[in-house]
Amino acid sequence: MEQVPMVGGVSLSPECLEGISAREILERAVAEYGDRLALSVSFGGAEGMVLLDMLSRVTDEVRVLTIDTGFLFRETVEFREEVERRYRLPVEVLRPALSVEEQVRRYGEGLRGCQPDICCQIRKVEPFERAMQDYDAWMTGIRREQTPTRSRIPIFSWGERFGAAKVSPLAAWTAEDVDEYVRENDVPLNPLLSMGYKSIGCEPQTRPVGEGEDPRAGRWSGSEKTECGLHWAGGRS
Ligand code: SF4
Repeated sequence: MEQVPMVGGVSLSPECLEGISAREILERAVAEYGDRLALSVSFGGAEGMVLLDMLSRVTDEVRVLTIDTGFLFRETVEFREEVERRYRLPVEVLRPALSVEEQVRRYGEGLRGCQPDICCQIRKVEPFERAMQDYDAWMTGIRREQTPTRSRIPIFSWGERFGAAKVSPLAAWTAEDVDEYVRENDVPLNPLLSMGYKSIGCEPQTRPVGEGEDPRAGRWSGSEKTECGLHWAGGRS
């Protein structure tokens, strides 16, 4: 039977979290897990930055985990460094066991970002899996509105893959909610977001999107892949 954490007599179960504010969800997660909670941020999208900003107003003890695949845009790396200087939250950069050169030597040129499932497994999923051994829960900025595959994500769920609970305080937020928070709180954003990019991952598989295009259409464009594998095994729901 699934174990549902209680915080001050209040349940963290999915039903109880619907309809309450993202800030309150975040506060309950911090109260429940303390430093066994981590926030996962890519430093690409606005959602991760909203959560990072919100978290910084609640505590400075929860660690921010971010994956550097070795394929990130220079702008993303520089932006991450800027955020580290501006906020007091500890940021831990997770890196793959293999450098890009070692990966290519071992698996061939085809794995220079061209076989996304295997490359994402080595460069994103495995480093995250290793890091999560030190945590009981992680928070992520994914929203239901973003893609059909994300349309039914719960605010709180138990994840066997990483052996940890997953909390998505922004699950019910709209793009307008995100914009409003960014505006009102002067949240810094990756500069590529104002250059036509709407969802930013690794440089080889991210392109700007046109007017009216799905914001995530620029990721793994032309392939069936829609996710990196952190939220769904193999990158598919
Ligand atoms: S997004 Fe592309 S380059 Fe980045 S880890 Fe996945 S497959 Fe590799």
